[in-house]
Amino acid sequence: MVMGDLVTEVDVAVLGGGPGGYSAAFRCAELGLETVVVDAGKRLGGACLYEGCIPSKALLHVAAIIGEAERAKEFGLDFGEPRVSLDPLRKWKAERVVGKLSRGLASVAKAKGVEVIGGWGAFEDSRSIRVGGDEPQVIRFKHAIVATGSLPSRVPGLDLASERIMDSTAALEVTEIPERLLVIGGGYIGLELGQVYAALGSRVTVVEMTDGLLPGADRDLVQPLARRCEKMFAAVHLKTKVASLKEVSGAIEATLGGGQGPQSFDRVLVAVGRRAVSDKLGLETTKVKIAERGVISVDERCRTADLHIYAVGDVTGDPMLAHRAMRQGKVAAEAIAGRPAAFDNAAVPAVVFTDPEVAWCGLMEAEAQRAGRAVRVAKFPWAASGRAATIGRSDGLTKLVVDSASGRVVGAGVVGPGAGELIAETALAIESAVTVEDLALTIHAHPTLSESLMEAAESLLHGGTK
Ligand code: FAD
Repeated sequence: MVMGDLVTEVDVAVLGGGPGGYSAAFRCAELGLETVVVDAGKRLGGACLYEGCIPSKALLHVAAIIGEAERAKEFGLDFGEPRVSLDPLRKWKAERVVGKLSRGLASVAKAKGVEVIGGWGAFEDSRSIRVGGDEPQVIRFKHAIVATGSLPSRVPGLDLASERIMDSTAALEVTEIPERLLVIGGGYIGLELGQVYAALGSRVTVVEMTDGLLPGADRDLVQPLARRCEKMFAAVHLKTKVASLKEVSGAIEATLGGGQGPQSFDRVLVAVGRRAVSDKLGLETTKVKIAERGVISVDERCRTADLHIYAVGDVTGDPMLAHRAMRQGKVAAEAIAGRPAAFDNAAVPAVVFTDPEVAWCGLMEAEAQRAGRAVRVAKFPWAASGRAATIGRSDGLTKLVVDSASGRVVGAGVVGPGAGELIAETALAIESAVTVEDLALTIHAHPTLSESLMEAAESLLHGGTK
């Protein structure tokens, strides 16, 4: 510390105002701890609100309407070709969606007495953070929570400084609708944004290095999505790497592996994953341990190797999802307040908001096989669902993974419209040790897509085992 420094003393200093950070701060305040949040942008919401979950879902909603209108032609409804005006679209997203939620978070912070300090924060030691920028000060804390999140990963060698090369943050700005868009990466961010641009009118080519879209996800669930992508996209290249990108007369020339000739694109979206933000945080002045890929190591109470410092959210590694960050934030706050909390959730749902949606949680079939765990698997194709037929979406599938010995539901997956909502029931089932019989005997309203969970459970009870 230097003479003349403005020093703020608090119980808890939270570094980073994303979902992990603000959830932690709000819970700390509720538990009577004096709490401040340091955020580089002096705002709460983080990547989720400004460049992630929320703006992408707003744009996917627009894409879904376009898709539904297209499908409605089958039932004799023709709205004509969609005309997209980017200015009102961007304004709606920025003001009515992101702006509204941002103002909401600011007012919650005010109501709970959580101050948000703007500036980059870095540890000076295990008890203080120095904040730079317009509000320079040193914050002395009893405990700190690192919630600095993640940033888009880059591909070495494809780091061309060109406006035509976008990461997810730039793509969400929708500055234009490129005629030809190359998406590098067939993970959830690449596919969600690829579908947004395809719906808006771009010819989208997706390149994925592994042998399937959504690497790591259950293959039965991916299949209907892959079929849809084949229809929506100009091309999907699997087991393919982008060898080089070059800016050539107002376009990007991409050379794809596998001996294909160079192809020209108006824009390129690089969506190859995210990396934890743990550098330039002064963590070397603390006892915090950093593992591979910059991930901060934490125990089940979200505490780092430094007794005074906790870490939550993307900076603690996979799965990098907002709801996991929020839960961890609450666990860290409770642990600091001396309560018996732990991040011991059996199921962290994952949702891909594409058309069709893909969602899963708990133990999936391939994982169970790898672990040598005895499970029974039920699959209920939506071709047999009344509700799916009424909305013209018989392409879905519901899958249950049940522990053979106990009959408990240990995993579930859904692909189809609304999968992201349907998966919530299975997360509760897994956390509550629900058995396949409980699920089969629970009355699910007819006709709904949720019946597919009951039907899948029934098929296991009545012999449809695998
Ligand atoms: P972040 O949200 O990354 O917030 C970190 C904050 O800390 C930022 O405001 C940053 O500016 C600030 N910061 C960092 N370092 C410092 C410092 N030293 N000093 C001051 N401030 C600092 N997740 C889902 O669950 N569902 C989705 O549908 C979903 N969609 C996504 C779509 C896209 C396109 C992207 C990119 C991500 C998506 N995610 C989604 C992931 C989700 O956004 C993250 O998991 C979530 O935001 C992580 O929260 P966090 O609190 O760990 O960090």
